[in-house]
Amino acid sequence: MKTRPECDESQRFPGEQISSRPRDAGSDTGESAMTIWNRRAWLYRTGIGAAALAVMRGGALSAFADEPHITISPLNKLSDADEIALGRKFAAQIESEVEIVSNPVIGHYLEGIVSALAAQSQRPNLPYSIKLINSHEPNAFSIPGGFLYLNRGLVELIAEEDELAATLGHEIGHVVARHVVNRLLLSFEARSLLKPVLDNLNKKNGVVEQIIRKLGGALAMLAMLHFSREDEAQADLLGFYEMLRADWDPHGFLELFDQLAQLEKQLGGAPNQFLSDHPPTPERAEAIRRELKRVKIPANARKDSVRFQVFKSTMGLLPTPPKRPAPGGNSSQ
Ligand SMILES: [Zn+2]
Repeated sequence: MKTRPECDESQRFPGEQISSRPRDAGSDTGESAMTIWNRRAWLYRTGIGAAALAVMRGGALSAFADEPHITISPLNKLSDADEIALGRKFAAQIESEVEIVSNPVIGHYLEGIVSALAAQSQRPNLPYSIKLINSHEPNAFSIPGGFLYLNRGLVELIAEEDELAATLGHEIGHVVARHVVNRLLLSFEARSLLKPVLDNLNKKNGVVEQIIRKLGGALAMLAMLHFSREDEAQADLLGFYEMLRADWDPHGFLELFDQLAQLEKQLGGAPNQFLSDHPPTPERAEAIRRELKRVKIPANARKDSVRFQVFKSTMGLLPTPPKRPAPGGNSSQ
């Protein structure tokens, strides 16, 4: 496995700050509504939290003390609507580059998982969606605005629903923290293309699409964005708390890391972008174990479901993936 790149400071926005404090109600996201998340944070902060949360979660009590609090970089001026518009343009390009699985059982199941996790995220108001890519290459990634993609190869790798929830919670974490959108904006800016992109975000004139194609296509652009270890750690923790609040057992992260470690062993150092970007390192597992000690996992927290097993076996009925370069090879986040 190739060595994971260190944090590229040129891709970090000046002023971008992360803290571990709970987010204040009505804070800086630009969302005017008091969301489910910050209602809960407010309850917690005001001391009503312990009792209220126990009631809200059927006796399950969780602490929010170490959930990353994301602040928006001053250089990211995009409104949520602008970010969604940018995401839609990227999504259209991605879907012209890969084969999307069209299966109502699969689609409905995945949408259910994502909407349950996203509702418990710090950005619950985005129009989250998920599509399955017909590729055996293990991969999952997200783009601005809440558009998630999952390769069937990753589903084939995992055994239980909580591992899938950990994967998707991590990707929602990247959306929440604006990791992709921030890097894309910097990438456009570095090529003096930020102004035409922003000027045409909400126009149907094909300008942004042309720029993406000129830069090699959506997948190639995404492959250029290397997240730092800190970004990945944030996405893990954000996903951890999404899972906990949505009543999944976040031990799923540890099981997912085990599956990735096995894959790494099987591949014996063969290049795989997903592993390169998401190494199952002792540090990632340790961070999750540390968090597990700080929260109470409800006795009835979900680990697996019949629906997951039906979903997984439906994979076997899908047509063979197309023999073109696997999208998972170069676009994982
Ligand atoms: Zn990631």
